Amino acid sequence: MSPCGDTTGLPGENDPDQIDVTVIGGGLAGMAASIHLVRDGLRVLCIEADIADPTPVGESLDWSAPDLLANLGFPMQRLIDEGFGTWKRHVILRLADGTTAEYVPGEWLSQPPFNIELRTLHVDRVRLNAAVRKIAVREGVRILHDRVNEIDTRGRTVVSVTTAKGARISSPWFIDASGSARLFPRKFNLPASDYGPPKVAIWTYFTVTESVEGTTLHAEGDCPTYMDWVWEIPVHPDMLSIGAVSRGEAIKALRASGQSVDDVFRNQLERFPRFRELIRSVPAISTSITSYRCRVHRQIFGPNWLVAGEAAAMVDPMTSNGVTAALRHASEAAGLVSKYRQRHRIPWLAGALYSRRIQDVARFFNCGIEKVIYDGPIRNTIGVKTAGDVYTIPAWSLNNVYARVSPKGIVSSLFICVLLGTFRAVATVTHAFCKYDQAYCEAGS
Ligand SMILES: Cc1cc2nc3c(=O)[nH]c(=O)nc-3n(C[C@H](O)[C@H](O)[C@H](O)COP(=O)(O)OP(=O)(O)OC[C@H]3O[C@@H](n4cnc5c(N)ncnc54)[C@H](O)[C@@H]3O)c2cc1C
Repeated sequence: MSPCGDTTGLPGENDPDQIDVTVIGGGLAGMAASIHLVRDGLRVLCIEADIADPTPVGESLDWSAPDLLANLGFPMQRLIDEGFGTWKRHVILRLADGTTAEYVPGEWLSQPPFNIELRTLHVDRVRLNAAVRKIAVREGVRILHDRVNEIDTRGRTVVSVTTAKGARISSPWFIDASGSARLFPRKFNLPASDYGPPKVAIWTYFTVTESVEGTTLHAEGDCPTYMDWVWEIPVHPDMLSIGAVSRGEAIKALRASGQSVDDVFRNQLERFPRFRELIRSVPAISTSITSYRCRVHRQIFGPNWLVAGEAAAMVDPMTSNGVTAALRHASEAAGLVSKYRQRHRIPWLAGALYSRRIQDVARFFNCGIEKVIYDGPIRNTIGVKTAGDVYTIPAWSLNNVYARVSPKGIVSSLFICVLLGTFRAVATVTHAFCKYDQAYCEAGS
């Protein structure tokens, strides 16, 4: 084993038993899982390939993320006071014609018996990731700066992983939190469902003199068949994260026509009056780009392993649910490993319920956002602003119900899954009806 980076106190090659859990990936899911596990008294090694990732995404949090961050040691007020981010009190949809719609939780929800916190945050992910990693190291998580290249298995059991630098690491338990690398889903060929087309996000940061206290989503208003959008997130009071999301196919065509990534980004922003001045005031921009596909895996558990975070399920960025999902999976996966550590395996039912909850929540968000917002039939029938309400109200409510119920056992898990499935079914039927209706009208005209 060849420790490097900020690795602390790794066991030697012949002491594999010193590690109880190997966590692959030191993003938010991996770090959060590691912290929960060491707090439960387990010895954890977290393997991270790219410790200094300068462009992590996931800056606009939904309303369930703050409690999960508080459990790690980051209450909202601390994050604000120490300059990790800004308040997010609402989401604004701004159309190219300048009109807006605001989505803000009702004041009554903050009153008894609900007592729901109406604020959430935008966060500077470089700073937050570094701070979470610092807490992990302080609490005793060992971090190995290396890349897992091979996974050795016996049937469905993971025996060891081997890194690029040649370390072979065995432990009784493994958690795969490798994000889009999806190491275990690929290794075990886990079944998956895709939502929407492949997409590309291009983003950068602008210094501004003032910003709006909320996340703004910018979109065309004139009934596109599939929706492109631009996010505007004030990660600091004087710094905006601005990113444009489009279908991968469209970006590929623009690139093939000779446009650079920066050109594509500039042109996307030029469509919105809000950005014209901003973009023209900057002579050169340096963008980051990523492509992704919203994908939800099933059967994300084995006798001694679980998959957590984006490796298990990628939810669309427009839902702002990725960070919540990563932290929630981490807490639930760590809870299962801690609970069954003496048995040395996860009972099938407990693993299956974990898998089902993760899968159904991600399918709910992806199905809702694709059918109600991205795709044309429902949005163009009821208008984009109303579609925003139709998506936001159930999404926000279900996240809150999930946080309150905190499902673990069979009854609470089934209750949540039936609720999520019902909303998905309603969205699917409504989408099919609107599609049929539009085709019928077009055929008749
Ligand atoms: C464009 C975009 C915008 C987004 N915006 C939002 C948003 O506004 N709000 C929100 O809530 N969510 C958002 N998300 C989603 C959110 O960023 C992710 O869901 C969340 O960060 C996932 O965390 P994670 O820890 O599971 O994965 P990651 O943060 O990707 O961490 C995985 C880690 O595993 C490491 N790794 C990978 N392979 C290996 C290997 N072989 N060996 C060792 N280490 C490895 C990687 O280096 C990485 O650090 C967005 C996503 C995208 C793509």
